[in-house]
Amino acid sequence: MRIGVLAFQGDVREHIQAIEKAGGKAMPVKRAVEISKLDGLIIPGGESTTIARFIKEEGLTEPIRAQVSSGMPIYGTCAGLIILARRVENNAVFSLKILDVEVKRNAYGRQRESFEDEIEVEGFETPYRGVFIRAPLISKVGPQVKVLARYQGKPVLVLEKNVLASTFHPELTSDDRIHRLFLSLIDGSKKS
Ligand code: GLN
Repeated sequence: MRIGVLAFQGDVREHIQAIEKAGGKAMPVKRAVEISKLDGLIIPGGESTTIARFIKEEGLTEPIRAQVSSGMPIYGTCAGLIILARRVENNAVFSLKILDVEVKRNAYGRQRESFEDEIEVEGFETPYRGVFIRAPLISKVGPQVKVLARYQGKPVLVLEKNVLASTFHPELTSDDRIHRLFLSLIDGSKKS
């Protein structure tokens, strides 16, 4: 199973380690030729404007879209979620428009730039500790989007077919349940 972590900027090493802890294997990827060979791709948190610029410069928009439309699971965390979104409401950045959500960047304001709190995730038996860092807010979800977790009433973990996204950072905790969920999507996509 080849899992790539888009490695221009952000929590790349943390995602690779989290995938390994969850029982998979991942590698950093940067180029279009690498994207087309993947079974799964993670777009990490970081700065969405920076990651978006590299995606455009490297010509990754179409390779990523093509892989996702042929069924490859993709997971975006925080800035990665912004990159996947159909629409970015404020401080618009370029996005791939492969997840039917609208997001607001840096939506929790300066007072609550970074915080942790427990969230209930569908299918998890115990609460999950979400780490939020200058997190975006998902303000609208399309009809095909499944909300797997909410925080203060707003979606924070969503799934639309093979596209998974969270406003929080599971790679910064030792709880590997979200990465295991992503691995199970990849397993499922290879069987079907
Ligand atoms: N605030 C960042 C952005 O808008 C995202 C922060 C993060 O990924 N932790 O790109």
